[in-house]
Amino acid sequence: MRLTLSIVASLFFGASSAKPILNPIQMMEMAGPEAGKVIQKCASPGMLALAYDDGPYQYTQRLVDILDAGEAKGTFFVTGTLYGCIYNQKTALQNAYKSGHQIASHTWTHPQNFGSMSSADLTSQMTRLETALVNIIGVKPTYMRPPYLATGGNVLPTMKTMGYRVITDDIDSGDWNNRSPQQSQQTFQQAGTSGNGHIPLMHETYSGTVNTLTPWLINWAKSNNLKLVTVAECLGDPDGAYVNGTGNSQTTC
Ligand SMILES: [Zn+2]
Repeated sequence: MRLTLSIVASLFFGASSAKPILNPIQMMEMAGPEAGKVIQKCASPGMLALAYDDGPYQYTQRLVDILDAGEAKGTFFVTGTLYGCIYNQKTALQNAYKSGHQIASHTWTHPQNFGSMSSADLTSQMTRLETALVNIIGVKPTYMRPPYLATGGNVLPTMKTMGYRVITDDIDSGDWNNRSPQQSQQTFQQAGTSGNGHIPLMHETYSGTVNTLTPWLINWAKSNNLKLVTVAECLGDPDGAYVNGTGNSQTTC
């Protein structure tokens, strides 16, 4: 019995290494989704990953409050300067992070030509936001959504090099294209709740998306037994949303 136990122990802990050996499931969890590859939807059914682009902005805190009240988790793909300087919404972003919502990158300036930029310029777009996020929430994101969902040119190879998971969408709410919250709701109903969870394209910069569409989606998810999770959670990567980074003393854009 004693001999058997020591053999089992050496199998688990290794004879020559002091490092703990992870089982295959733990290793997969640590690895998370592959960097530099386009991801459109969740990795399993029964969930919905509410995802919002283009903030932070004047509605960020309101959105955090609505999600928190609905016991929902959301994902915020934020920029540095698109709707004002990111430091202007420092407290709202910190509150979002503390509530367990995911903060992810949507680049520093949201360039219109993202898909045709040089690798150096793409890298600068990402690192400038990383520095600001380390200054504001203390960590840097490992998830990003390209502006205009542009995934061509140097985008994917550069994101792969930088370790970014590239998220697009599988449902377009159309809020950016003057679609009303009611029209967006129809889009969700038509898409339905079967299959792997949705990662919709929405924007926290529209009052209708924050104040009307989001409460409706929280109810829609609840009445269809969908769990409202972050993008990282819906990809089986709950602990992989951030890594450590280096900040600086900057407090303005
Ligand atoms: Zn955008």
